[in-house]
Amino acid sequence: MNFFNFSVNKILRRDLSILDQARIRLLYYGLLLAAVGLCALFLSVYLQNLQVMTSTTTIALIAVLALFKYLTYKPHWHTISHLLLVIGTMVNMATVFVILQDVNIITIQLIILVIVFSFYMLGQNWGMFYSLLNLLPILIFMVMQYDHNYFIDFKPEKADESTTIIAVFANFILIIFIHSHFYSAFLKNIKQLKDNGEEQAALNIKFERAIEKAEKSSQVQSEFLSTMSHEIRTPLNAVIGMSNLLLMNNPRQDQGENLEILKFSANNLLAIVNDVLDFNKIESGKVVFEKIKFNLVDLMQNICGGQIIKAEEKGLLFKLDIDSTLRKKVIFGDPTRLTQIIFNLVSNAIKFTAQGNIWVRVTCLEDRHNNIIVSFSVKDTGIGIKKENLETIFEPFIQESITTTRQYGGTGLGLAIVKRLLELQAIQMYVSSNVGEGSEFSFNMEFPVSTEVIAQPKERIVIPEQQKQQQVQQPVVPEIEDLGSSLRVLIAEDNPVNVMLMKKLFSKWKIVPTIAENGERAVEIVQYGNFDIILMDLQMPVMNGFDASMEIRKMTDPAKSNIPIIALTASALFDIRDQVTNAGMNDYVAKPFKPDELMEKIQNLIATV
Ligand code: ADP
Repeated sequence: MNFFNFSVNKILRRDLSILDQARIRLLYYGLLLAAVGLCALFLSVYLQNLQVMTSTTTIALIAVLALFKYLTYKPHWHTISHLLLVIGTMVNMATVFVILQDVNIITIQLIILVIVFSFYMLGQNWGMFYSLLNLLPILIFMVMQYDHNYFIDFKPEKADESTTIIAVFANFILIIFIHSHFYSAFLKNIKQLKDNGEEQAALNIKFERAIEKAEKSSQVQSEFLSTMSHEIRTPLNAVIGMSNLLLMNNPRQDQGENLEILKFSANNLLAIVNDVLDFNKIESGKVVFEKIKFNLVDLMQNICGGQIIKAEEKGLLFKLDIDSTLRKKVIFGDPTRLTQIIFNLVSNAIKFTAQGNIWVRVTCLEDRHNNIIVSFSVKDTGIGIKKENLETIFEPFIQESITTTRQYGGTGLGLAIVKRLLELQAIQMYVSSNVGEGSEFSFNMEFPVSTEVIAQPKERIVIPEQQKQQQVQQPVVPEIEDLGSSLRVLIAEDNPVNVMLMKKLFSKWKIVPTIAENGERAVEIVQYGNFDIILMDLQMPVMNGFDASMEIRKMTDPAKSNIPIIALTASALFDIRDQVTNAGMNDYVAKPFKPDELMEKIQNLIATV
């Protein structure tokens, strides 16, 4: 039965500290020892017919047994210790002042027991309290006995030899037991601390190794991604370039359609590769934000230009509202990254909306002369997002559901990139959405304002009809009547497919370019020949495009050192602009370039020379 279950293991919980376990064990065995001692004492005083002592011992024995039962029922060691100490103190007072009116060795032993017990069980404050409480009777007694020849009896006057021996012996055993018990708990505690320390040290070493490994693997992964992306981009460039060329050759309608699909898919794949590369770059903390001058209205028109056409093709109404106060302002910021953010949000809005409208709003929230706070919002009437997914959609590679992937495609990287780009500028993204009604993504951005003012702001935000045309039936090979076949072009490019592509493209403009298969060769050719423009691939064997450009810029003949150079880069990275300018090149186009973009750049540069 439970009532008679006096096991100590029942009350020793594993989650208790070593000291608390020691306290419970001490009470358990201490009470048992005390009970045994009291039994012996009881027998001794009973047999001698000492009535007062027999009743005192009986009461003490009953109290000890009751406390033992209480302890094994509920290990409230705190309360039990107090009760024991109160009983001990009372016994002390009673023997000194009432029963014996004397101080003997047993009284002294009892006081020592109380002192040791109270400190070990209840800590310093209570220990001090009970110690003083028990020492006071002796002190008072000694003061009262001031005039007498004072000496401490070895044995109580009213007890015989055997009673004294039992009491003294039992008390000493208790004192030794309490000390040895706590000393072993103390040693165990120290050992545990040491073991914990060693375990901690071993764990720390493990952690450090794991962190090192993780860092290394993330670096390897990032390098792998970057190499892979680059390797994938190169053949993709050729696919897109070739489709462009074939589309220029007036293909049959069915061929044209197939080519469009080919080009669309290749472009999609390129966008994914670029996203992966870009996300990788953001994650590895390599993004640096630019601070260059631009006009927000121009930028928004440029971003939304192509998107408006896409929206209209889907039958959606696209509204672009820009605060008129922003028209004259020249602000500082990173237009490339801002474009990336808005472009992603608007693309999503169009992608996830079947009917209704897309509303892009740019509002100036605060205008403090040298700095403005602008609110950007992209709202749609699309499929909406469930409340529980509003956070997860910003995680990389996460889409709302499998159906999203099947129905709309995509990688789930767009919003992750947007969020990270904003976070890096300490900007929070807000999203509100209702399933079936639509979504709104918004954020506020602060820009320093230049003192420059745009004299003649553009009248209205409309996309020129001609631009629409170009976007729809691309690609268009721009005409260059005034330059024609007289243009002397040097192309430094090592990849034979790209060389072929360039040759074909230039043949459309009736230009036969000179080809250099690496940077060193390009420098040599420039030394002996005359050119109007150089197209310089950046990654080439023997000498790369940067070094070759620097060599050319160092040439003594100004006609050669000033030849406009356009970098051709397969890297979609945004910090390429600085590197290109630092190497003395005038501009760059990212592969796969649109033929008209390249020609526009060539024409601009030649016109300025
Ligand atoms: P992706 O567009 O490539 O799927 P994103 O990171 O841009 O990846 O978006 C993640 C997910 O968030 C999308 O797959 C879609 O489920 C949800 N989402 C994003 N924008 C919208 C929107 N305007 N309307 C509804 N759902 C959206």
